[in-house]
Amino acid sequence: MRIYKCAFCGELIPPGYGLMFVKNDGTILRFCSRRCFVSMIKFRRDPRKQTWIRKQQRKLLRQQAQQRRR
Ligand SMILES: [Zn+2]
Repeated sequence: MRIYKCAFCGELIPPGYGLMFVKNDGTILRFCSRRCFVSMIKFRRDPRKQTWIRKQQRKLLRQQAQQRRR
């Protein structure tokens, strides 16, 4: 059984939880909660700007962004 990461907040999703979203172009997005799903698909929010995402997740996102810049 594979454990997937949330496409929005980056948290690990335990098996049997969360929801899977398939876009029209076939890409699969997995979300830990409805909140993550709605903020990404419906409101198109930037995960780096959300305050309710855990600090650790935000650190990871920042590191990724810095690596991309380099
Ligand atoms: Zn999430």
